[in-house]
Parts: sequence; C-alpha cells; structure tokens
Amino acid sequence: MQRYVIVGNGVAGVTAAQSITRADPAAEVHIFGEEPYPYYQRPRLWEFLAGEIEQETLYFRPPEWYAAKGIQVHLGARVTALNPTEHRLTLADGGSIQYDRLLLATGARSFVPPFAGADKNGVFTLRTLDDAQAMRAYACGEPFGYAQDRRRRNAGNPCSAVVIGGGLLGLETARALLALGLRCEHLSGRLDVSVIEVAPHLLPRQLDAEGAQVLQTRLEAMGLYFLAGATTEAILGDEAVRSVRLKDGRVVDGRLVLISTGIRSRVELAREAGLEVNRGLIVDEQLRTSAADVYAAGDVTEFEGVVYGIIPAATEQAQVAAANMVADDSATYSGTLPATTLKIVGIYLTCLGDATATGDEFVVLRQVNPAAGVYRRLTLREGKIVGAILLGVTRDVQPLKQLIATGRDVSVYSDRLLDEDMDLKALAQ
Ligand SMILES: Cc1cc2nc3c(=O)[nH]c(=O)nc-3n(C[C@H](O)[C@H](O)[C@H](O)COP(=O)(O)OP(=O)(O)OC[C@H]3O[C@@H](n4cnc5c(N)ncnc54)[C@H](O)[C@@H]3O)c2cc1C
Repeated sequence: MQRYVIVGNGVAGVTAAQSITRADPAAEVHIFGEEPYPYYQRPRLWEFLAGEIEQETLYFRPPEWYAAKGIQVHLGARVTALNPTEHRLTLADGGSIQYDRLLLATGARSFVPPFAGADKNGVFTLRTLDDAQAMRAYACGEPFGYAQDRRRRNAGNPCSAVVIGGGLLGLETARALLALGLRCEHLSGRLDVSVIEVAPHLLPRQLDAEGAQVLQTRLEAMGLYFLAGATTEAILGDEAVRSVRLKDGRVVDGRLVLISTGIRSRVELAREAGLEVNRGLIVDEQLRTSAADVYAAGDVTEFEGVVYGIIPAATEQAQVAAANMVADDSATYSGTLPATTLKIVGIYLTCLGDATATGDEFVVLRQVNPAAGVYRRLTLREGKIVGAILLGVTRDVQPLKQLIATGRDVSVYSDRLLDEDMDLKALAQ
C-alpha cells in the first residue's frame, strides 16, 4: 500500500487528497496542516470579517467526510523539515513520517513591504482565519471604536480605517470593513474606509484605466474613499496606528490599517531541502519538483515563470499532481486561464485572460456606460479573443472563457461581438 503525504490543508492539499483516494481507494493518505482549523474557504473570510457569517460556516466539510474517505488529517501540525533522500518529514512536535510520494501544498503568505511602522498595533494582513479574527476583534473592540476615541466620537467624527492596496483582496476587504462598521456597536454604525493604491488606478492587474474609473465611481457611491497613484511612506502612531503618511506628504487618518500588497509563496521547506526554487517552487508539466517523488500544487508553485495565486490554478494543479502521484505520467498541466471575479454585493466584475493587453498586435473592442456602471472590453489577437473585462454585466462569462480557451477564430464577427443581440454562447459551441 502506497503512503501519500500532503503538507498543507488548503484547497490544493484537500483537492489532491480527494483525487488520490478516488484513483487509489486503498491508499494511505495523510494531510498535515499547521493551522488548528479544518479546511476553510479563504474567499469567504470577508463575510466573516464583516460579521455576516459565523466561523463554522467557513468550514467546508465535516471531519467525518475525511474519515470516510480514509484521509487522515493532522491539524495544528507544522512540518519543519523535509529530507528528500530519506523520503521523510520532521514535525514541529519532534515526530516524523515517511512517505512514498509527497505533495507540497504550503500555499502563500501575505507580503508586507518594508514600511516604517508596519509593526504597530492595529496593522493587519488578511490571509488566514486567525488574521480575520484578530482584525474583527480589534475593529469591534472598545479601544478602537469607543473608549480611546470618546472625545472624537462625541464630536461626531467616525472611526477610520485604511487599506493599502487597491487589488481584488484590498477592495473586498475595504467593503467588508464598511459593512463591519454598520454592525459593530462600538463603531456606532460608521467606519470610514480609504483605499490607497500606488498604481494610477484600481485593480491595475485586471482593469485598464477606463474600466477602473467606472468601478471606482460605483465603489465611491458605496461610501469608500480612494487615493490612486499614492505611495505609502510610513505608518504613524505611538504603539497603535493613527494614520498613514504618503510620499507626497499627505496624511490619511486610520485607526486600523490593512496591508494588501500581494503574496509570497511559502517555499522555505522546499528551499531548505535543496529543491529548485525561484519566486515559487518550480514544477514541470507533471507538477513534479526537482526531487524524486516530491510534487507540488497551488500558491506555492511556479509553473513556466508564473505564480498564479488563484483557486482555479490550485485545484487544476492538485488534480494533475494527484493523478501523477498515483500513476506516473498520467496527466499533464499546461497552465490555467487567469480568471478573477470581484465579490462585492451589487457590483459584478469578471476579468479573463489577457484582459488589459495593449499594443499593435491587439484589437480592442469597448462598450462604456458609466451611468449604468457598465464596462465591457474584449481584446483580440489574430482574430481570436485573448482577454475580456465584464463590469456590470453577468452574462457571457462562460462563453468567453470557452472562446479564450479554444482560441476560436471570431474575426468575421469582430465588429459585432459587443452588440446586445450577439449570441456568444452559440459562437462558443
Ligand atoms: C481573503 C482571501 C480571499 C480570496 N479570494 C479568492 C477568490 O475569490 N478566488 C480565487 O481564485 N482566489 C482567492 N484567494 C486566493 C486563494 O485563497 C488561494 O489561491 C488558495 O487558497 C491557494 O490554495 P493553496 O492550497 O495553494 O494554499 P493555502 O490556501 O494558503 O493553504 C496552504 C496551507 O498550508 C499550510 N502550511 C504551510 N506551510 C506548512 C507547513 N510547513 N506545515 C504544515 N502546514 C503548512 C498553511 O498554514 C495553509 O493552511 C483568496 C485569498 C484570500 C486570503
């Protein structure tokens, strides 16, 4: 009987475990996760932060599900060393375990730029349930919302929070903080939230300037403030944060600061074991690392120079890795179509593929209706759709995904692709 060991109890680790037991029901499968919680859904952490759901709602499956599949889950169990020659892992509690095949699914952590003052009380990142719990407790606590600010609040000034980073995670967390302000007794129904973005516009990785402006207008109407093209210089305050100073000298009031400036793959275990590592842990088309019998999937990986950092890539990689761990060379990974959706109630935004590409080789089709909050953009190269932005419209996501993935030549329709009566669904079939 083969023993498969997985490090990381996130979506990549759990998906791989499920795929392994499906392909090899007799297998012995262990998952080691350093967090004390059962597998939970990171994309729902905002709802938890906003006070809209309880912790238990985040948990995806009951412990019995794993037991029924023969998956042994070890929680609060950090793996501290990997010895690829001996096929052995060492655990923080001093124990060790041998493996026949290993999957490293250690994910990523939040990246914090070296801002002065980033270590002050009230400065957070959001990656884990612990992070969300700590931020929610701080924001709703007496010191933040009421006691220390009694005079300010008696004067009618609301408390304020700053989000550094206007990417997807930053915007979704900003919306969650706004919602939390409405719920928390000590915040008296209001928390002012400002978002600082270093790029000239929001979502610089997903949107062009025109689309970002339509989005920003919608978000401002919800009550968020924005400072784009603004570089953070320092986080100010005594022990606790009070404000953020920008390079141009402006100071933004904030009693809570969330730093949302990207992720870094958690490659330490692999690096110390001598595996080939760049920005992420290097994997090939079979999701093999440079060590025999060691595979990797999810945010920890780098495939053809790309660290994806999104769930579709983590699940696709986990399935391919699992298949190859059970049967050599049985599956191939060729990359994941970048697809991201902003999850803010009342705003619908999906970006697919090479959404913001510009240059002579691209043809760009646009439809803009700021009053309705609608922006649609298609990017074509050599008659094929390579990217799409859909803001304020919910239809056509699946057909566009298919058209981008299959690379179908749509040049004969190119002047009509954004017409209301254009049936992209039919075109994709
Ligand atoms: C708030 C939030 C919202 C998001 N929303 C979306 C979204 O809407 N759509 C989307 O596509 N992506 C989203 N993402 C990104 C998505 O969550 C990640 O792409 C995904 O979690 C990656 O899965 P993973 O299993 O590779 O890593 P992770 O989910 O990070 O899991 C890795 C696990 O390994 C554990 N671990 C690490 N090292 C060790 C060790 N040495 N020993 C034991 N355990 C270890 C970690 O503690 C962690 O639990 C979001 C991320 C966050 C933080």
